[in-house]
Amino acid sequence: MIDLHCHLDLYPDPDCVLGRVIRESMYVLAVTTTPRAWQGTLKLVGRAPRVRVALGLHPQLVAERHDEVDLLCSLLAETRYVGEIGLDGSPQCRQSLALQQEALDHILAACAKVGGRIMSVHSRGATKAVLNALQSCPDAGTPVLHWFSGTLHDLQRAAAMGCWFSVGPAMLTTKKGLLLAERMPRDRVLTETDGPFSRWDGEALAPWDVARAVSALATIWNIDTTAAGRQIAANCRTLLEHGNVAEPN
Ligand code: MN
Repeated sequence: MIDLHCHLDLYPDPDCVLGRVIRESMYVLAVTTTPRAWQGTLKLVGRAPRVRVALGLHPQLVAERHDEVDLLCSLLAETRYVGEIGLDGSPQCRQSLALQQEALDHILAACAKVGGRIMSVHSRGATKAVLNALQSCPDAGTPVLHWFSGTLHDLQRAAAMGCWFSVGPAMLTTKKGLLLAERMPRDRVLTETDGPFSRWDGEALAPWDVARAVSALATIWNIDTTAAGRQIAANCRTLLEHGNVAEPN
């Protein structure tokens, strides 16, 4: 099982979550919301064989943490994975969009400079602007649009640009989310939870809850859950092995 967007460091008991992730041989991308959490999350993950840490600056935090953009860029040489980054145009964040845009453009340019990175990208309420930013910096690497919520037209555009998509249980309970997932190129779909922020029946989703997304995708693709799991695992290998991304120093 694969959770390509999880805030491992933000669970109340991250060691306990990590323990089960290791026991279940899961592949997890632990995304950080600020580059200040980078070292601590690396330390937390330790030698866990299939857990990777992504270097991020959540767009919702850019207003108060804009000065951390340079820190993020200076750490880029140490990792293949960036996230989460992006833009948030929802009402509570809209007033910082200009600053968010500046930060995103800066980060994408820095990713391009180091040879490209695998990037977990947030685009709530700002899909078109995120796609514009990615399009104007094609050497930034391979974007994985997390919890995509744009229009079908945006989706078509993102797919044509070579974007990947990570979808989770919460997204796949809505009619719109299901319709979008159905139209995503099957060989570029990955699973995620966005835990502990995203919830299910009032409880924070944990990485192993991607099983719910796998079974929803199996229904969409009209195959059984084992075959859906295999498809997602194959997609993940393709992303990690052949992503247009340079190795870190
Ligand atoms: Mn997130």
